[in-house]
Amino acid sequence: MEERIVSSRCRPDDDQQFEFGLRPQSLAEFIGQKKIKEKLNIYITAAQERQEPLDHVLLYGPPGLGKTTLAHIISREMGVNIRITAGPAIERPGDLAAILTNLGHGDVLFIDEIHRLSRTVEEILYPAMEDYALDIIIGKGPGARSLRLDLPPFTLIGATVRAGALTSPLRDRFGIVDRLEFYTEEELITIITRSARLLNVAVEPEGARAVAGASRGTPRVANRLLKRVRDYAQVKADNVVSEEAAREALQMLQLDTLGLDEIDRRLLRTMIEKYEGGPVGLDTLAASISEEPETLEDVYEPYLMKLGLLKRTPRGRVVTGEAYRLLKLKGEQGPQPRLW
Ligand code: ADP
Repeated sequence: MEERIVSSRCRPDDDQQFEFGLRPQSLAEFIGQKKIKEKLNIYITAAQERQEPLDHVLLYGPPGLGKTTLAHIISREMGVNIRITAGPAIERPGDLAAILTNLGHGDVLFIDEIHRLSRTVEEILYPAMEDYALDIIIGKGPGARSLRLDLPPFTLIGATVRAGALTSPLRDRFGIVDRLEFYTEEELITIITRSARLLNVAVEPEGARAVAGASRGTPRVANRLLKRVRDYAQVKADNVVSEEAAREALQMLQLDTLGLDEIDRRLLRTMIEKYEGGPVGLDTLAASISEEPETLEDVYEPYLMKLGLLKRTPRGRVVTGEAYRLLKLKGEQGPQPRLW
């Protein structure tokens, strides 16, 4: 299924070069996530003073909040190289062994979606993280011998949507574990204003606010929406992202002021109309909007919960009074409401 315009995951049309240009390069440039930045600043300075690599870092939270960006920043601030890979890309233990032996002293190894490493690959990581060592088995059967190879000291940065998805032996080996939070509207306005400056787009403050409101607390979505709004402004509004131009562009994308799209509304409506507000099981809900249960749980639900529209209970998902109010409001205004 095609990713939605409000998906916080990378979409095929997210131009990597474009994303790259907008990526903050230093902790000072990185907007929001104040607590994480403060801590990292201290740990990085301390590690540099001791001339040691930074302890292993686990960053978790919904996609698009800046985990990869932070990994790049950490390697830059430490003055080391970064090697980037992802859990599903490392198929065999030998693949990981090859990556580890090619690291330079103090380098950062970034593994995205680290919860998707296979168990056999994961076991290679334990001695690597703990002792900077690689245990290899030579030969087969009774004659097999185990050999320990030294690795250069390095920093592993793991990223995942849920810390709970990691096995505990892996999680326990990270010295620094931090959760990224959704960004506030003011932070998103700052990000959008910065991106607009880098892209040479004229954005009025209220235009930036309208885009921020629909960005689901997520910089990746904010940048993506800014691109679309820029196109609209270019063709329809003299190249200026005013409040009106932003709202018209977002409406064309069928997004409301909160960044909810037709699929979010269908989800909430289904829960209310078919299941009397819940509780409804995750799989049933996912099927009702033709999404994978994991996608619903990791990508879309966190924002609905943040808005207080949906709650997870031990018996399933339930909608809140807030969701009833939201939909009732919309119901009165027809299927494609003008919320502005
Ligand atoms: P994740 O790894 O969590 O999925 P990324 O680090 O790839 O997220 O971030 C997605 C995009 O959002 C990046 O291209 C970057 O431009 C932007 N971004 C993320 N965090 C920030 C931030 N704090 N300030 C400015 N831009 C950000």
